[in-house]
Amino acid sequence: MDSVSFPYDAPVSQTLFDRASLVTPGGVNSPVRAFRAVGGTPRFMVSGTGPYLTDADGREYVDLVCSWGPMILGHAHPEVIAAVQECVARGTSFGTPGEGEVALAEEIVARIAPVDQVRLVSSGTEATMSAIRLARGFTGRAKVIKFAGCYHGHVDSLLAAAGSGVATFGLPDTPGVTGAQAGDTIVLPYNDLEAVQAAFHAHPGEIACVITEASPGNMGVVPPLPGFNQGLKDACAKNGALFISDEVMTGFRTSKAGWYGIDGVTPDLMTFGKVMGGGFPAAAFGGRADVMGHLAPAGPVYQAGTLSGNPVATAAGLAQLRLLDDAAYAKVDAVSEQVRSLVTEALAKEGVAHRLQTASNMFSVFFTAREVRDYEDAKKQDAFRFNAFFHSMLSQGVYLPPSAFESWFVSTAHDDAAIERIAAALPAAARAAAEATA
Ligand code: PLP
Repeated sequence: MDSVSFPYDAPVSQTLFDRASLVTPGGVNSPVRAFRAVGGTPRFMVSGTGPYLTDADGREYVDLVCSWGPMILGHAHPEVIAAVQECVARGTSFGTPGEGEVALAEEIVARIAPVDQVRLVSSGTEATMSAIRLARGFTGRAKVIKFAGCYHGHVDSLLAAAGSGVATFGLPDTPGVTGAQAGDTIVLPYNDLEAVQAAFHAHPGEIACVITEASPGNMGVVPPLPGFNQGLKDACAKNGALFISDEVMTGFRTSKAGWYGIDGVTPDLMTFGKVMGGGFPAAAFGGRADVMGHLAPAGPVYQAGTLSGNPVATAAGLAQLRLLDDAAYAKVDAVSEQVRSLVTEALAKEGVAHRLQTASNMFSVFFTAREVRDYEDAKKQDAFRFNAFFHSMLSQGVYLPPSAFESWFVSTAHDDAAIERIAAALPAAARAAAEATA
C-alpha cells in the first residue's frame, strides 16, 4: 500500500467517516465499504442517477459497482422509482400476505425452470442459511460441502475460507464461529471435482448438500470449468445429497434465467438476491416442490421473517425484473464487452500482466499472468497493482469495487458518455498499476 498515493482528498466524506467511526464499528455497515484493502477515505454517496453516483463532496463518478450487483438498470430508474412511490403511498409493511409477493414469486418461477416454489426473505445471507437448513432437514444429514473463495453471506457455517470481505481482508476464519458451527462444513478447492468425489467417499451418507456460487464472483470472477457444475449435480444425485446453486450474484444478471440460463445445470435448490430486489432488501430461495414442501407451515423445517416479502421491496424487484427483457441483457452484455476491451487495451499498452476473467457480463481483472481457477490462484495476484489502479480511477471519477477480489458490475444505463469517461481514465490508471511497487 506504500506505493499508493491518494490523489485528492474528500473532506466531507472524511468528516462523515470520522463521525461514523465513533458510532459504528470501522465506520461502515458492511466491511468492504471501508476501503481498508485499498486505503484512503470511503466515499459517502448522496445520490445516484443512471450510471453515475455523486458523493458528499459533490464529485460525480461512473459507477462500476452498481451497489454490488443489484442496480442492473442503473440508479433511480424512473419506472422502478414510480413503482416504489405508488406502493409506499399505500403503506410500507402489513405483516400479512400481499399480492406483490405472489407476483414476484410467479415471475421467478416463470423465469427459472428448476424453481417450482420460492420463499422470499430479506438478504442473500438469509437465503443461503435457510437453504442449508432445509437441505439438512430434508436429507436428515449434517455435513455441507462448500468451496474456498465462494461467499454465501455471513452464515456461521459458511464463513470458512469464504470470498468477498473475508478474502479482501485475508481472514483465515472468523472468531465467534464455534467449532460446532463450522465442524460440519467441508471446504474444498473450487473447480476440483476429484476433491468432491473424495469427500463423498470419505463421508458416506453424511453429506446433506453441496453449495456453490453458480459462477463465483467473490474471489474475483472465476467461472466454473466446463462440466464442473454438472459434475457437482451428478455427485449429489449419486450420493443422495442436494445440489444448491447460489445465484445471489448471478441471478437475473448473467441472463434472464441467471447462470442457470447459461449452463442449464438443474440444481435442487437455488438462492437469489441483489437484482431481484431492485435496490431494496429482497432475496429468495427456491427449488423442487418436494423439497420446498418441507418448509413451515407446509412442513416441519422452520423459517420465517417479519419483513419477508415486504411490499415496497417486492414492488421494486418486480418492476426491475419486468424491465429486464432480452434487449436489456443484450445491452448489459455489450457494455460489459466494451469496458472489458478498454481495460485490457490500456493495461496491455503499459505492459501490465493481467487476466481479465469473465462470466457473461460479470468480470474482474486479476493482476497476474496466469489463469485463475480457484482461490489459491486468486490470492497469488499482485493486489498492490489493483490498489494503485483503483485510486487512479477514483481520482478521475470512476468508482470501482474497492478490492481486487470483487466482480465489477455494469448496467443498461452505461451509455457512450459514461464509457468515454472510463476510457479517458484508463491510461493513467494503467500507468499507475505498472509503476506500483509492493
Ligand atoms: N451469496 C452470494 C453469491 C453473494 O455474492 C452474497 C453477497 O454478496 C451473498 C450470498 C449474501 O448476500 P447478502 O449480502 O444480501 O446477505
